[in-house]
Amino acid sequence: MRNSPSKTYARPEDGARPFEMDSLLKLEHVRCNLCGADDAQLIFPGTLHEVQKGDWEPFQCTYPGYGHHLPVVQCQQCGLRYTNPRFTEAEILARYEDVEDPTYLEQLPGRLLTFGMRLRHLERFTGPPAGRKLLDIGAHVGGCVRAANARGWDAYGLEPGRWAVATARRGGLDVRQGTLQTNPPAPESLDVVTLWDVIEHYIDPLHEARDCAQVLKPGGWLVVHTMDCEALLARLMGKRWPWLMEMHMHYFSRRTLAALLEAAGFEVKHIFAEGRFIRLDYLITRIAAFSPPLAAVGQKLIEALGLGERAIKINTGDLITVYARKPE
Ligand SMILES: [Zn+2]
Repeated sequence: MRNSPSKTYARPEDGARPFEMDSLLKLEHVRCNLCGADDAQLIFPGTLHEVQKGDWEPFQCTYPGYGHHLPVVQCQQCGLRYTNPRFTEAEILARYEDVEDPTYLEQLPGRLLTFGMRLRHLERFTGPPAGRKLLDIGAHVGGCVRAANARGWDAYGLEPGRWAVATARRGGLDVRQGTLQTNPPAPESLDVVTLWDVIEHYIDPLHEARDCAQVLKPGGWLVVHTMDCEALLARLMGKRWPWLMEMHMHYFSRRTLAALLEAAGFEVKHIFAEGRFIRLDYLITRIAAFSPPLAAVGQKLIEALGLGERAIKINTGDLITVYARKPE
């Protein structure tokens, strides 16, 4: 199991120099993606001290570097929280293309359970699969595509990461390398577009949502799953909220995400907290990232009980799924 990458990062308490990265990597100042204002207040100072160019480890799905992030600000006009300054678009895309994440494969059984649950929920709103077209953007190794096909959807995925695409295709799944911009579907050709844990990574989520609207049929659904930075757990944990991470460019609330999707032309129909299945042995590695003693106790317990491979459903209330419909 991968540990926190101490070689490229130092925490302030280690006596490192204050936040200073420009010599290592070019960062850019950005305006609010939702309202366009340049009127943001710093809410969580950056905790990264060194970043190596092209270092893709922090961009893995399973990266355990909680607490390492660039400065997070809040727009004083509309309330959107975002990373500012941040990496350039070219740097981010290059990292996603290069990222490899074998740890993810160990978690695939839990993720397939999660996708099965999410798709059951999804079909309550979208209606039955019946060969209808579903595109999963940021498909990674194809967990959603596999689960959706098994349920009767005509599903395929788009994914920038070369390793993930190769892994998905070896498994016989239709996952294509690229993004909505480099590999666009025909206009108004899709019934459902899903973005599972993806929108927070985008540098221009408003543009991406508008592109999703273009490729959906009238009456089609955009389904977005992301963190809710105004959930109770997030407010209680403050700067220790584990989703403050280097790879996250935006931190939505129910309100700011709904506003963004409406600005992209969607009607927001449902928003709810949605949990996930997680294997107990994987959960322990997550806990170890911020409390090694607690993780050690947990590890002994699940070993004693032989429960490492057991998946349990967890809903901490700070992960939400939004269903938005393109008008008929
Ligand atoms: Zn704003």
